[in-house]
Amino acid sequence: MADFEILDSKYGSLVPSNSFLEKLWTGARWTEGPVFFADLDCLLFSDIPNNRMLRWSEGAPVTVFRSPSNNANGNTRDRQGRLVTCEHGTRRVTRTEPDGTVTVLADAYRGKRLNSPNDVVVKSDGSIWFSDPPYGILTDYEGHKSAQEQDRCYVFRLDPSTGTLAAVADDFERPNGLAFSPDESILYVSDTSHADRPGGPPHIRAFSVKDGKTLTGGRVFADMRQGRSDGFRLDTDGNIWTSAGAGVHCYTPAGDLVVRIPIPEAVSNVAFGGPKRNRLFITGFTSLYSIFLGVNGVQRP
Ligand code: MG
Repeated sequence: MADFEILDSKYGSLVPSNSFLEKLWTGARWTEGPVFFADLDCLLFSDIPNNRMLRWSEGAPVTVFRSPSNNANGNTRDRQGRLVTCEHGTRRVTRTEPDGTVTVLADAYRGKRLNSPNDVVVKSDGSIWFSDPPYGILTDYEGHKSAQEQDRCYVFRLDPSTGTLAAVADDFERPNGLAFSPDESILYVSDTSHADRPGGPPHIRAFSVKDGKTLTGGRVFADMRQGRSDGFRLDTDGNIWTSAGAGVHCYTPAGDLVVRIPIPEAVSNVAFGGPKRNRLFITGFTSLYSIFLGVNGVQRP
């Protein structure tokens, strides 16, 4: 039996018929934040409760990349290829320079500490967009239990050239995963509130990006009641590959669910990787998985 389900035969080419799910590694408590470095032929990902980031490379043992990681969660790369990381424990977003030094990009808004930055993407103009739910301050498990200082859980845009941090969305309960459409005209953002508050928003929303800096709209793009959308990435055709409970779902830009990939445990995030960006890496509860796809990921740089 195939390791995936094509729900509409028009989309059969999204996953090669002989592709299969691979379990690459296990041994974490809760993984998130996969990011691929084609130039270094490796994938970095976070193991949040174990306060470490790990490095996977084909055919090599998984090693510790950074420990302590300040309970790092989401990761991405900027236009220069530098690692950008959301840290729960220090409630900040950082950039790792080529020499390994760490630069703090954002840790406060309007004079108050951020909640616990969760997921991050970088736009082609270098601006850094991230979500700020409180998951890293609710308990000591994924960070440090602390009071929330922000009045809301914002989605932020950071201009790294000026250091200006602007709230671009303020009507989320638990903003979480986010990613741009291939042409960057749409920013998708998930709300995972329903995972800890019955009746909370369970969806991915789609915003129009105006002047490259602000958001308008925010229609519900996909209802994720059947499994939370913690994180997602897009392919070059604009399809959204998202975590969905114990599986990965693929939605077309029109919002139709067309592929389901069951995973043996809850999924957090996904990332495209491999030299051709046609391999989807999947961080699960305790393990790292991958599957080759028939499409290629949008990945910057
Ligand atoms: Mg997340």
